Amino acid sequence: MNQYLEIFSRRMREGGSPKAEREFLEISRIAGKFPAARSPLGGAAAEVSVWCSNDYLGMGQHPLVLAATREALDEHGAGSGGSRNIGGTNHYHVLLERELADLHGKADALLFSSGYTANDGALTVLAGRPGDCVVFSDEMNHASIIDGLRHSGAEKRIFRHNDTAHLEELLSAADPDRPKMIVMESVYSMAGDVAPLAEIARIARKYGAMTFLDEVHAVGMYGPEGAGIAASLGIADQFTVIMGTLAKGFGTTGGYIAGPAELVDAVRGLSRSFIFTTALPPAVVAGALAAVRHLRGSEEERDRLHANARLTHRLLTERGIPFVSDGSHIVSIFVGDDALAQRVSALLLERHGIYVQAINAPSVRAGQEILRSAPGAVHQPAQIEGFVEALDGIWRELGVPRAREPRPAG
Ligand code: PMP
Repeated sequence: MNQYLEIFSRRMREGGSPKAEREFLEISRIAGKFPAARSPLGGAAAEVSVWCSNDYLGMGQHPLVLAATREALDEHGAGSGGSRNIGGTNHYHVLLERELADLHGKADALLFSSGYTANDGALTVLAGRPGDCVVFSDEMNHASIIDGLRHSGAEKRIFRHNDTAHLEELLSAADPDRPKMIVMESVYSMAGDVAPLAEIARIARKYGAMTFLDEVHAVGMYGPEGAGIAASLGIADQFTVIMGTLAKGFGTTGGYIAGPAELVDAVRGLSRSFIFTTALPPAVVAGALAAVRHLRGSEEERDRLHANARLTHRLLTERGIPFVSDGSHIVSIFVGDDALAQRVSALLLERHGIYVQAINAPSVRAGQEILRSAPGAVHQPAQIEGFVEALDGIWRELGVPRAREPRPAG
């Protein structure tokens, strides 16, 4: 064993390791245990049905997306061959950036290899110099936003989750002459709750703040042509930069920002996570382009997703199984106990072949443990009934508290 490994292992055994290292080891230990399904639908071809996939609309399996991916794979090969600035840009990258700018009604858009690197890279630049701004960030913002803001070195004020009165209080106390940025998500990934975007836009206007909106859990799923929550409210133009992913509603992988040309140019020219990495493979980009184009013209997947969400909300309510969702497609079953959440998740898998990940701290606050379920557009109503039925049985067996006494369906 080399010296580093020896010291590292000893520190881990002695329990003196920093929290991050312990978390890393814990994650590595359980990573191999996540069930793998070949299809979110379950059935004969799969070991389990997945109820926590972010491929919300099933676009990762859509024939148009697969055909476009195959065609580009045959034509351009498996990789991009370089970074965007050195040989890695293919015409699919350019086409997709134009498509995304158009989708969000912005002048320009920029692709990154993931949503994580998009937030990290864009916020590092936009919140850092030359903006030198004070940033107002929702306390529940995703790790990629937190990391981007850290890397920017910007002065940061955290407002209570979705609390616009607190946001306004913080803004009114800030130096009126400093540039300001408000950063938030639209649909939050764990509780499925939706930000009060119209009110945030009003406050941003009042204090002259620029707005950076993460619509990762909304693009493809909400709004006209799948342009997101701000677009569904008709206020996308009031958000300076809209950030999204290709890995959830659009079923592939990659991330992006869309915004004014001068800001996108600055990010293109300065963002290290854009410049110093290999570009997305053309086949992936071609698949994503097919997904975005299809979802701009088709309501079918969105309609099925929202009908399935409504059915799940109704059945859970009838059984008194507590959940948080705020009417969105993310339906988190509330357990409120670490060990119990793990136990419910394990029983669902063992007995019913249903995989829903239990979410513990730090992803949610201790005492707020959930099973993060997201019934997708591809699930059938009968499967949703089976899912709720399975939960109901486990609730009864383990004596998990109900939201209230169950009442008969119908
Ligand atoms: N923002 C939010 C709100 C997210 O939930 C995630 C990932 N779950 C990301 C950004 C990162 O996106 P990606 O998975 O494409 O890296």
